[in-house]
Amino acid sequence: MPGTRRKTILTQTFAALGISSAFLSALKDIGYQQPTPIQSKSVAHLLDGHDLMGVAQTGTGKTAAFGLPLLQRLDQANEPARTRRPRSLILAPTRELASQIHSELEKFAKNTSIRCSVIFGGVGQNPQVRQLQQGVDVLVATPGRLLDLVGQGHVDLSTISVLVLDEADRLLDMGFIHDVKRIVQQTPKSRQSLLFSATISKDVSELARKMLRDPIRVNVSPKQPTVKTIDQRVIMVESPDKLETLQTLLHDKALSRAIVFTRTKHGANKVVKKLCAAGISADAIHGNKSQSARQRALADFKKGRTWVLVATDIAARGLDIEGVSHVINLELPHEPESYVHRIGRTGRAGASGVAWSLVAPSEVSRLRAVEKLIRLDLAHFDTGLNKLGPEETGRRQTQTSASQADSRREGGSNKKRHGRRRRTQRRAA
Ligand code: AMP
Repeated sequence: MPGTRRKTILTQTFAALGISSAFLSALKDIGYQQPTPIQSKSVAHLLDGHDLMGVAQTGTGKTAAFGLPLLQRLDQANEPARTRRPRSLILAPTRELASQIHSELEKFAKNTSIRCSVIFGGVGQNPQVRQLQQGVDVLVATPGRLLDLVGQGHVDLSTISVLVLDEADRLLDMGFIHDVKRIVQQTPKSRQSLLFSATISKDVSELARKMLRDPIRVNVSPKQPTVKTIDQRVIMVESPDKLETLQTLLHDKALSRAIVFTRTKHGANKVVKKLCAAGISADAIHGNKSQSARQRALADFKKGRTWVLVATDIAARGLDIEGVSHVINLELPHEPESYVHRIGRTGRAGASGVAWSLVAPSEVSRLRAVEKLIRLDLAHFDTGLNKLGPEETGRRQTQTSASQADSRREGGSNKKRHGRRRRTQRRAA
């Protein structure tokens, strides 16, 4: 049982939070110099064994906030990994988020003998089963595949000592509530439980009430929910003109890598087709794509082989990709909260970023809802981009065809691609 609560004092070092040398040296290698606010507020309490309710968005450093104490406690317990019986479980809503958490944890645990593993659907289960048989300390999982493997007797949750629900709001939005409840029921009551959520709905509160015991509450949601370093703009444009406007915006010289959001999977595919036809190296990430296609799209984008990733909300939520200079909303989302999550893909860790939203007259009420949520009136830009004269349009098309030929010759090299874009570039906004 956890002891009495410490008073939270924001500290400047991981050592002062109680992080041990094996992890301190891993953090030094990764380049984390000092704790982020959520880490300062959580780590010591979690090391003491308290439950935690964290209201935090991705980008705040929450993975290390729960991952470091979890790994350190397991390391100190010094028990050998048991076959089929993980010692701790992290549930995440999407395969991408699960993979991302897993790879962060592996970096933190590199100086220990702790074994981390990740399981999710959409890929063959055999390699996952083999790892579970070899023994896993920390299991990161999406709910569906986990329950599958539990049902087949490949995983036993009766020895879970730490349970983390990450992005609980999204787990519930995606309809995992019953799966989550079934999973929680199979873990021991004596476990330490952590729940993170960007937003607290009635359902999330209810789940927290059932799952957590006298939790520490940590809230790092900024008062103004959108990051200050993001330059947010609205471009009013009729729906039929959006794709052309998008192409022109992508030629902005300050743009290095962009995530374009669409509301539907079909819409995402359509945009990719159009951009590729115009010689812009783009790929889509959404729920209809196979797991391997999603991972490939993500890896290509991270490595710079493609520079435009077209995504739906669910697929992009929680993804941590460095160096995204621009987020472009081709349509505004139905839920204003999603706008905040979307634009949070840029301007990470204090870097500056640009978020453009293409808004059709029929979306004005959605725009108002976003502005109300973020407590800002967004600047409107009339770029005149849709009103290019025939001569200009013709020139651009010629250049685009030329660049397509370039692209084939160059094999899509990143460096050359920038040169190519500079030639064709047109300042937007
Ligand atoms: P997360 O909210 O866990 O997805 O983390 C967002 C980003 O912040 C990730 O790229 C982390 O690697 C990075 N990060 C987390 N904690 C720190 C820290 N203390 N110092 C620097 N970067 C950090």
